[in-house]
Amino acid sequence: MRSTRVITPEGTRAASVTVADGTITAVLPYDAPVPDGARLEDLGDDVLLPGLVDTHVHVNDPGRAEWEGFWTATRAAAAGGVTTLIDMPLNSLPPTTTVDHLRAKRRAAAGRAHVDVGFWGGALPDNVEDLRPLHEAGVFGFKAFLSPSGVDGFPHLDRERLARSLTGIAAFDGLLIVHAEDPRHLDAAPRRGGPKYADFLASRPRDAENTAIAHLVDQAKRLGARVHVLHLSSSDALPVIAAAKADGVRVTAETCPHYLTLTAEEVPDGAGAFKCCPPIREAANRAPLWRALADGTVDCVVTDHSPSTADLKTDDFSTAWGGISGLQLGLPVVWTEARGRGHGLEDVVRWMSARTARLAGLDARKGAIAPGRDADFAVLAPDEAFTVDPAALQHRNRVTAYAGRTLYGVVKSTWLRGERILADGGFTEPKGRLLTRSPWPRPPKGRTGPP
Ligand SMILES: [Zn+2]
Repeated sequence: MRSTRVITPEGTRAASVTVADGTITAVLPYDAPVPDGARLEDLGDDVLLPGLVDTHVHVNDPGRAEWEGFWTATRAAAAGGVTTLIDMPLNSLPPTTTVDHLRAKRRAAAGRAHVDVGFWGGALPDNVEDLRPLHEAGVFGFKAFLSPSGVDGFPHLDRERLARSLTGIAAFDGLLIVHAEDPRHLDAAPRRGGPKYADFLASRPRDAENTAIAHLVDQAKRLGARVHVLHLSSSDALPVIAAAKADGVRVTAETCPHYLTLTAEEVPDGAGAFKCCPPIREAANRAPLWRALADGTVDCVVTDHSPSTADLKTDDFSTAWGGISGLQLGLPVVWTEARGRGHGLEDVVRWMSARTARLAGLDARKGAIAPGRDADFAVLAPDEAFTVDPAALQHRNRVTAYAGRTLYGVVKSTWLRGERILADGGFTEPKGRLLTRSPWPRPPKGRTGPP
């Protein structure tokens, strides 16, 4: 693979990347001779970047496959330059909360994944005994809610149950990933319902996030546990996260394209496509999130792709399904805003590939163009613009909060372990693998054991 712009951990440069058996073998000077018998893929000035790793995706399959599904979600991923996704444990039936349920999820995904797929487990009030077996079966960590999740079968953890689950997970040095909104603040907030976005925003106040995150950080510190704050929206919580990191607490945080690019002021009343929890907040909330990405307080950006059927995205924000479908558009959405704020594509790659790979413990194989990593690539024309047409989206229900927006960054092709899986809108048969946390499912040739 030869390009004048290859994004490596050391920066962007003209280079030739050699690949054998699905693995990157070397990053050579641009004009290095093509090895005997090798095929040259000359990408010209298009950018070669490591395939994105999206650690926050709701595939909802089996059980709610009419909302999404492995076939459609992984096609949307491939179309968006995402080569690895990790599926959230809820909204599917069953949820990923026991080893048997994990097997059901893997059966649903087998043979239908266009990109690599891993699974988070779920931490419920009553499944503490299932956590270690799930960990040993290969889930990447455990998701918990601190307030009602919105679906039956996935109850939240109160403070006592959080401490119990966290103690259990810390015993095997697992990772707890947390939807952090405090239920008492949500209960106390005004709930008017209806189509006005301002009313919905008032019903999910920043205090709910701030309080829950502060408590989570305290518990992580007390127990020496590893925790990750999901979909951070409230910028008021940033000082708590920054202070905890400085204090050596094992906490990381993610935010999402919609919090970084959309604002409450511009969400039309009745536009259910924009509903998510925590909510898209005011324009003044957005700049601190960007600063926190720049200084490392927020580690990474994930889509939180959480679709439903279109009929559930009603015009009443209190009852509409909460979730933004952004898997295919995450890269151009973030890149468009990032370039306007003076960030480089290297930054976007760090937030959406390197750091997410590290979060999931996949960084020996994913998240960088470097020898020994999987040859997973996105080829991007970063200065080419397009207008979002819902008909061009690959996820099952083509609801989007980005319809009609003009975005920079066209994904020209996507590569998985050295094979092109998408080019010019056409897909190959599914070649994705089902990933487990450890041991690695297939040691690369010439090596034994996990990398
Ligand atoms: Zn989510």
